[in-house]
Amino acid sequence: MSIKDSLQTRDALSVVHGLTNLSTHAKRGATVIKSGKGVWVQDIDGRDYIEAMSGLWCIALGYGNERLADVAHRQMMELAYYPLTNHKSHPSVIELAEKLLSTAPVPMARIWFASTGSEAIDCAARLSWYFWNALGQPEKKKFISHQLAYHGNTIASASLSGVSYAHNKFNLPLPGFLHVQTPHFSRFAHPGETEDAFSDRLIAHIEKLIHLEGADTIAAFFVEPVMGAGGIVIPPTRYYEQLQILLKKHDILLVCDEVVTAFGRTGNMFGSTTMQLQPDLLVCAKALSSAYIPISALMISLRVYEAIERQSGELGLFGLTMTYSGHPVASAVALETIKIYEELQIVNHVRQLSPVLLEGLMNLQSHSLVKEVRGIGLLAGVELEAKYGNECARIAEEEGLIVRAIGDTIAFCPPLIISELEVQELLKRFTKALNRL
Ligand code: PMP
Repeated sequence: MSIKDSLQTRDALSVVHGLTNLSTHAKRGATVIKSGKGVWVQDIDGRDYIEAMSGLWCIALGYGNERLADVAHRQMMELAYYPLTNHKSHPSVIELAEKLLSTAPVPMARIWFASTGSEAIDCAARLSWYFWNALGQPEKKKFISHQLAYHGNTIASASLSGVSYAHNKFNLPLPGFLHVQTPHFSRFAHPGETEDAFSDRLIAHIEKLIHLEGADTIAAFFVEPVMGAGGIVIPPTRYYEQLQILLKKHDILLVCDEVVTAFGRTGNMFGSTTMQLQPDLLVCAKALSSAYIPISALMISLRVYEAIERQSGELGLFGLTMTYSGHPVASAVALETIKIYEELQIVNHVRQLSPVLLEGLMNLQSHSLVKEVRGIGLLAGVELEAKYGNECARIAEEEGLIVRAIGDTIAFCPPLIISELEVQELLKRFTKALNRL
């Protein structure tokens, strides 16, 4: 038995894989990746691939970053763990919180830490409830998010998600989680409708929903500045402009899920800046530590924080706690990650390489199988004719390119440190895959 056979068999007999057809997996086996350097990963047969999805939209600094490994090692030796409960703290989490507050896209007051994007989104939902209770409006409980949104996979964050696979047979969404039309113009516009008219129609629908449910029953609206797992959807500017006016009018909190978009991905440090969003709460994860270690952060605005602080004083305790909130090693790695982004001027790098990737993909628009190309910064989607998505991703993998099929949209989210030559190579491999398809 070769190493590959034995690892694939052992995987199939021992590991459960998310976003995978488990029946097919038992027969097909896993692509087992053993190492990575920069934007490249290598499987157990020694085949090289460009990781054009940064794993799951996360390994922004690429593989093999020695500074991040060194900082983790140093922090483990200095103080491997300490909780933040009962008035305890440690230098790494303080420095990281200060750093995040100074880079936030809008003024923020405090940072709550968790380990994953889903957890931090969950905490944003819970803090919204806690906030409205503090303000004496306990009936403000419902949440609105978009169909096809992805906000995570805990019970609350999966309820906020608008993708059917997070709900089907899982008894979700829970009651009180409302989903509105995806702001995807090219896909959902009526024939002849302009982009402005499309935005206005969606906003009118949301306003009707708010009236129907009662604004005094709605706690918060969750948005991804640019929707990732929903198929790379860039909402029209007018849509977010009008949405924010509506939410202010009805005193509904705006939560920005920047789990994918934070730290340069869209050509600004935050997607909220790119899409001109002014959130009350903002969640980031993934690129926060360039995926070298799990950590997520929830930025809390002053209005929300003041109410939380006051209420916890009245109750005698803030009852939210997680063992690994502000974990010292994760905090140290995240802090170093942000320092590296600043040293590399990562936002400028993304702005320089974005046209190379997007124009390269746009050139494929004339291909008979391509329906639409969408993108911003180093985030792009190539929508193919129906039923070609999975096969395209499979052939791309044979060509040494790892992409993800979201329905029939092929998603691209390469490590932010990708070079121009590597973008050209990515385009070459993808074109070859398309032609074979
Ligand atoms: N929000 C968004 C926009 C995401 O893309 C994801 C993960 N893909 C999450 C939340 C959940 O993050 P995690 O998987 O770390 O729980």
